[in-house]
Amino acid sequence: MRDAGTRHAVQVAVNRGSASARQHSVLVVDDDDNVRSFLVDALTDAGHAVSTAVDGADALDRLQAGTTPCVVLTDLRMPRMDGWELSRAVAKDPQLASIPVVVVTGDKVLSFSSPARDKPWSVTELDSMVQRSCSLHRTGGGRR
Ligand SMILES: [Zn+2]
Repeated sequence: MRDAGTRHAVQVAVNRGSASARQHSVLVVDDDDNVRSFLVDALTDAGHAVSTAVDGADALDRLQAGTTPCVVLTDLRMPRMDGWELSRAVAKDPQLASIPVVVVTGDKVLSFSSPARDKPWSVTELDSMVQRSCSLHRTGGGRR
C-alpha cells in the first residue's frame, strides 16, 4: 500500500504543477489601445495565448469565424457592440455559448494605478481569473 500512496502523492503534485502553469487562450476585447496592451502584456506574462478584438462586433466576428478561446475578457463600453451585448450574443449562439465572457470595466483596469482601490488588477489576479473561468482545461477533464 505504501507504493500506491506514494504514487498518488506524486500524481497530485504533477496535477497541481500543470494546473498553475496551464496555458489558456484568451480573447481580449477593448477599443482602448492602452487597456488592450496592458491586458495582453499581463496575460502573456502569465503564459497565456492572447488574441485581440477592438470591439464586441469584431470579437463576435472572430468567434463565429472559428476562434475559440478559453475565455473572453471584454471591456464594457465600446462602439458598435458593448460588453453586455457581446456577452448576450455569445450566450445565444449554440456554438459559442460554452465560452465564458468576463466583462471588465475600463475603470477597474485603470484602477491599477489608483490608491483608491485595495484590490487592483494585477497579473496574478488576471491569471487566477482566467484559470477559474476556463472549464475546458480543468484538471481531470470529465473524469471524477
Ligand atoms: Zn483553458
